[in-house]
Amino acid sequence: MSTQKSERRRPLISGNWKMNHNHFEAIQTIQKLAYALNPEDYDHVDVSVHPPFTDLRSVQTVIQADDVPVALGAQNCHWETSGAFTGEISPAMLAKLDVSYVIVGHSERRELFGETDEMVNRKVDSVLAAGMTPILCVGETLDERQAGRAEAKVAGQIEASLAGVKAEMVAAMVIAYEPIWAIGTGETATSADAQQMCAYIRSLVLAKWGSGAAESVRIQYGGSVKPSNAPELMSRPDIDGALVGGASLVADDFARIVNYRLYQA
Ligand code: PEP
Repeated sequence: MSTQKSERRRPLISGNWKMNHNHFEAIQTIQKLAYALNPEDYDHVDVSVHPPFTDLRSVQTVIQADDVPVALGAQNCHWETSGAFTGEISPAMLAKLDVSYVIVGHSERRELFGETDEMVNRKVDSVLAAGMTPILCVGETLDERQAGRAEAKVAGQIEASLAGVKAEMVAAMVIAYEPIWAIGTGETATSADAQQMCAYIRSLVLAKWGSGAAESVRIQYGGSVKPSNAPELMSRPDIDGALVGGASLVADDFARIVNYRLYQA
Protein backbone atom coordinates (compact mmCIF):
# COMPACT_ATOMS: atom_id res chain seq x y z
CA MET A 1 0.00 0.00 0.00
CA SER A 2 1.46 3.33 -1.01
CA THR A 3 -0.37 6.55 -0.31
CA GLN A 4 0.22 10.20 -1.03
CA LYS A 5 1.56 12.16 1.92
CA SER A 6 -1.46 13.91 3.32
CA GLU A 7 -2.10 16.61 5.87
CA ARG A 8 -3.20 13.75 8.14
CA ARG A 9 0.46 12.83 8.32
CA ARG A 10 2.47 15.87 9.27
CA PRO A 11 6.13 14.99 8.83
CA LEU A 12 8.08 14.59 12.08
CA ILE A 13 11.81 15.31 12.12
CA SER A 14 13.38 13.99 15.33
CA GLY A 15 16.90 14.52 16.62
CA ASN A 16 18.29 11.65 18.69
CA TRP A 17 21.26 13.09 20.57
CA LYS A 18 22.17 9.68 22.04
CA MET A 19 24.79 9.93 24.83
CA ASN A 20 26.06 13.31 23.66
CA HIS A 21 25.90 16.86 25.08
CA ASN A 22 26.06 17.63 28.80
CA HIS A 23 23.33 19.98 30.02
CA PHE A 24 25.32 23.13 29.20
CA GLU A 25 25.91 21.92 25.63
CA ALA A 26 22.28 20.87 25.39
CA ILE A 27 21.12 24.37 26.31
CA GLN A 28 23.40 25.85 23.66
CA THR A 29 22.19 23.39 21.02
CA ILE A 30 18.48 24.03 21.57
CA GLN A 31 19.12 27.78 21.64
CA LYS A 32 21.09 27.60 18.38
CA LEU A 33 18.36 25.47 16.81
CA ALA A 34 15.68 27.96 17.87
CA TYR A 35 17.77 30.74 16.32
CA ALA A 36 18.36 28.79 13.09
CA LEU A 37 14.66 28.11 12.47
CA ASN A 38 12.06 30.75 11.58
CA PRO A 39 8.45 30.50 12.79
CA GLU A 40 7.25 29.56 9.27
CA ASP A 41 9.72 26.66 9.14
CA TYR A 42 7.38 24.80 11.49
CA ASP A 43 4.32 25.34 9.27
CA HIS A 44 4.44 21.92 7.63
CA VAL A 45 6.58 19.89 9.94
CA ASP A 46 6.79 18.77 13.58
CA VAL A 47 10.21 18.79 15.22
CA SER A 48 11.42 16.90 18.29
CA VAL A 49 14.75 16.70 20.10
CA HIS A 50 15.74 13.75 22.29
CA PRO A 51 18.51 14.75 24.70
CA PRO A 52 19.99 12.46 27.37
CA PHE A 53 17.90 12.20 30.56
CA THR A 54 20.23 14.54 32.46
CA ASP A 55 19.51 17.34 29.95
CA LEU A 56 15.73 17.06 29.79
CA ARG A 57 14.92 19.61 32.50
CA SER A 58 17.37 22.14 31.06
CA VAL A 59 16.04 21.78 27.51
CA GLN A 60 12.44 21.88 28.76
CA THR A 61 13.18 25.18 30.52
CA VAL A 62 14.58 26.78 27.34
CA ILE A 63 11.68 25.51 25.22
CA GLN A 64 9.15 26.94 27.67
CA ALA A 65 10.92 30.21 28.44
CA ASP A 66 11.57 31.05 24.78
CA ASP A 67 8.37 29.48 23.43
CA VAL A 68 10.31 27.27 21.01
CA PRO A 69 7.94 25.15 18.88
CA VAL A 70 10.10 22.05 19.27
CA ALA A 71 8.72 19.03 21.13
CA LEU A 72 10.78 17.45 23.86
CA GLY A 73 11.58 13.75 23.45
CA ALA A 74 13.32 11.02 25.42
CA GLN A 75 15.47 8.17 24.13
CA ASN A 76 14.18 5.35 26.31
CA CYS A 77 12.20 4.59 29.47
CA HIS A 78 11.21 1.74 31.75
CA TRP A 79 7.67 0.36 31.62
CA GLU A 80 6.88 0.63 35.33
CA THR A 81 5.65 3.85 36.92
CA SER A 82 7.89 3.68 39.99
CA GLY A 83 9.69 1.17 42.19
CA ALA A 84 12.95 -0.63 42.81
CA PHE A 85 14.46 -0.35 39.33
CA THR A 86 17.85 1.22 39.99
CA GLY A 87 19.01 3.45 37.19
CA GLU A 88 15.72 3.49 35.31
CA ILE A 89 13.37 6.36 34.41
CA SER A 90 9.60 5.94 34.26
CA PRO A 91 7.14 7.23 31.66
CA ALA A 92 5.37 9.20 34.40
CA MET A 93 8.62 11.02 35.20
CA LEU A 94 9.07 11.91 31.54
CA ALA A 95 5.48 13.07 31.14
CA LYS A 96 5.97 15.38 34.14
CA LEU A 97 8.82 17.06 32.21
CA ASP A 98 6.49 17.71 29.24
CA VAL A 99 8.12 15.00 27.16
CA SER A 100 5.92 14.30 24.13
CA TYR A 101 7.79 11.55 22.27
CA VAL A 102 9.76 8.57 23.57
CA ILE A 103 12.04 6.51 21.31
CA VAL A 104 11.38 2.85 22.06
CA GLY A 105 13.37 -0.16 20.90
CA HIS A 106 16.22 1.73 19.23
CA SER A 107 18.60 -0.82 17.72
CA GLU A 108 21.35 0.32 20.10
CA ARG A 109 19.05 -0.54 23.03
CA ARG A 110 18.24 -3.89 21.46
CA GLU A 111 21.81 -4.79 20.47
CA LEU A 112 23.85 -3.31 23.34
CA PHE A 113 21.41 -3.62 26.23
CA GLY A 114 19.51 -6.76 25.36
CA GLU A 115 16.07 -5.28 24.85
CA THR A 116 13.67 -7.86 23.51
CA ASP A 117 10.48 -7.34 21.52
CA GLU A 118 8.54 -8.23 24.66
CA MET A 119 10.25 -5.46 26.64
CA VAL A 120 9.69 -3.06 23.75
CA ASN A 121 6.01 -4.02 23.73
CA ARG A 122 5.70 -3.16 27.44
CA LYS A 123 7.45 0.14 26.86
CA VAL A 124 5.12 1.05 23.99
CA ASP A 125 2.12 0.31 26.22
CA SER A 126 3.44 2.31 29.14
CA VAL A 127 4.41 5.33 27.02
CA LEU A 128 0.92 5.38 25.52
CA ALA A 129 -0.67 4.97 28.97
CA ALA A 130 1.30 8.00 30.18
CA GLY A 131 -0.14 10.09 27.32
CA MET A 132 3.05 10.32 25.24
CA THR A 133 3.81 9.14 21.71
CA PRO A 134 6.18 6.22 21.20
CA ILE A 135 8.61 6.28 18.28
CA LEU A 136 9.00 2.54 17.74
CA CYS A 137 12.26 1.63 15.99
CA VAL A 138 12.48 -1.39 13.71
CA GLY A 139 15.06 -2.49 11.17
CA GLU A 140 17.25 -5.24 9.85
CA THR A 141 20.99 -5.98 10.01
CA LEU A 142 23.13 -6.11 6.87
CA ASP A 143 23.24 -9.92 7.06
CA GLU A 144 19.46 -10.08 7.24
CA ARG A 145 19.12 -7.76 4.25
CA GLN A 146 21.65 -9.70 2.20
CA ALA A 147 19.88 -12.96 3.06
CA GLY A 148 16.56 -11.51 1.82
CA ARG A 149 15.13 -11.51 5.34
CA ALA A 150 14.70 -7.74 5.84
CA GLU A 151 10.91 -7.71 5.50
CA ALA A 152 10.47 -10.80 7.68
CA LYS A 153 12.59 -9.21 10.43
CA VAL A 154 10.65 -5.95 10.35
CA ALA A 155 7.30 -7.75 10.21
CA GLY A 156 8.26 -9.82 13.27
CA GLN A 157 9.31 -6.72 15.19
CA ILE A 158 6.08 -4.87 14.35
CA GLU A 159 3.93 -7.86 15.25
CA ALA A 160 5.64 -8.48 18.59
CA SER A 161 6.31 -4.88 19.65
CA LEU A 162 2.74 -3.79 18.96
CA ALA A 163 0.97 -6.89 20.28
CA GLY A 164 -2.29 -5.88 21.92
CA VAL A 165 -2.04 -2.21 20.91
CA LYS A 166 -5.38 -0.84 19.70
CA ALA A 167 -5.85 0.62 16.22
CA GLU A 168 -6.46 4.19 17.44
CA MET A 169 -3.19 4.06 19.38
CA VAL A 170 -1.26 2.71 16.39
CA ALA A 171 -2.80 5.50 14.30
CA ALA A 172 -1.37 8.13 16.65
CA MET A 173 2.11 6.69 17.01
CA VAL A 174 5.34 6.86 15.04
CA ILE A 175 7.29 3.95 13.60
CA ALA A 176 10.92 4.57 12.62
CA TYR A 177 12.38 2.28 9.98
CA GLU A 178 16.08 2.22 10.76
CA PRO A 179 18.20 -0.31 8.86
CA ILE A 180 20.88 -1.11 11.42
CA TRP A 181 23.67 -1.09 8.82
CA ALA A 182 22.86 2.56 8.04
CA ILE A 183 22.95 3.89 11.62
CA GLY A 184 26.00 6.00 12.34
CA THR A 185 27.87 4.48 9.40
CA GLY A 186 27.45 7.20 6.79
CA GLU A 187 25.66 4.59 4.63
CA THR A 188 22.11 5.47 3.75
CA ALA A 189 19.45 3.23 2.27
CA THR A 190 18.56 4.44 -1.21
CA SER A 191 15.39 6.46 -1.11
CA ALA A 192 13.76 3.73 -3.22
CA ASP A 193 14.69 1.02 -0.67
CA ALA A 194 13.60 3.20 2.26
CA GLN A 195 10.30 3.97 0.52
CA GLN A 196 9.77 0.28 -0.25
CA MET A 197 10.20 -0.74 3.39
CA CYS A 198 8.10 2.14 4.74
CA ALA A 199 5.32 1.21 2.31
CA TYR A 200 5.65 -2.40 3.46
CA ILE A 201 5.33 -1.32 7.11
CA ARG A 202 2.20 0.64 6.20
CA SER A 203 0.79 -2.45 4.49
CA LEU A 204 1.41 -4.43 7.71
CA VAL A 205 -0.46 -1.80 9.70
CA LEU A 206 -3.29 -1.89 7.15
CA ALA A 207 -3.60 -5.66 7.38
CA LYS A 208 -3.64 -5.75 11.17
CA TRP A 209 -5.18 -2.44 12.31
CA GLY A 210 -7.13 -1.23 9.26
CA SER A 211 -7.07 1.71 6.90
CA GLY A 212 -7.54 4.44 9.52
CA ALA A 213 -4.38 3.40 11.33
CA ALA A 214 -2.45 2.84 8.09
CA GLU A 215 -3.37 6.29 6.77
CA SER A 216 -2.48 8.07 10.01
CA VAL A 217 0.57 6.29 11.43
CA ARG A 218 3.72 8.28 10.75
CA ILE A 219 6.67 6.28 9.44
CA GLN A 220 10.10 7.85 9.72
CA TYR A 221 13.30 6.76 8.03
CA GLY A 222 16.50 6.77 10.09
CA GLY A 223 20.08 5.94 9.17
CA SER A 224 22.70 8.56 8.32
CA VAL A 225 20.14 11.21 7.36
CA LYS A 226 22.00 14.41 6.45
CA PRO A 227 21.09 17.77 4.93
CA SER A 228 22.21 16.39 1.54
CA ASN A 229 19.99 13.29 1.46
CA ALA A 230 16.96 14.46 3.47
CA PRO A 231 15.21 16.23 0.54
CA GLU A 232 15.15 13.08 -1.61
CA LEU A 233 14.20 10.73 1.23
CA MET A 234 11.41 13.06 2.30
CA SER A 235 10.05 13.27 -1.26
CA ARG A 236 8.90 9.64 -1.02
CA PRO A 237 5.19 9.16 -0.32
CA ASP A 238 5.46 6.74 2.60
CA ILE A 239 8.35 8.45 4.39
CA ASP A 240 6.74 10.81 6.88
CA GLY A 241 9.81 12.06 8.65
CA ALA A 242 13.34 11.31 9.77
CA LEU A 243 14.99 10.06 12.94
CA VAL A 244 18.35 11.77 12.86
CA GLY A 245 21.33 10.83 15.02
CA GLY A 246 24.73 12.38 14.28
CA ALA A 247 23.49 15.27 12.15
CA SER A 248 21.09 16.40 14.88
CA LEU A 249 23.98 17.31 17.20
CA VAL A 250 24.87 20.30 15.04
CA ALA A 251 22.01 22.82 15.17
CA ASP A 252 22.60 24.24 11.68
CA ASP A 253 22.67 20.78 10.06
CA PHE A 254 19.53 19.70 11.88
CA ALA A 255 17.80 22.96 10.90
CA ARG A 256 18.64 22.27 7.24
CA ILE A 257 17.10 18.81 7.56
CA VAL A 258 13.97 20.33 9.14
CA ASN A 259 13.91 22.70 6.15
CA TYR A 260 14.32 19.87 3.60
CA ARG A 261 11.50 21.39 1.53
CA LEU A 262 13.67 24.37 0.59
CA TYR A 263 16.20 22.03 -1.03
CA GLN A 264 13.80 19.77 -2.93
CA ALA A 265 14.05 19.87 -6.74
C1 PEP B 1 19.73 7.09 15.09
O1 PEP B 1 20.33 7.41 16.10
O2 PEP B 1 18.60 6.62 15.19
C2 PEP B 1 20.39 7.30 13.80
C3 PEP B 1 19.71 7.03 12.72
O3 PEP B 1 21.69 7.75 13.81
P1 PEP B 1 22.51 8.36 12.55
O4 PEP B 1 21.62 9.42 11.92
O5 PEP B 1 23.75 8.93 13.13
O6 PEP B 1 22.75 7.24 11.58
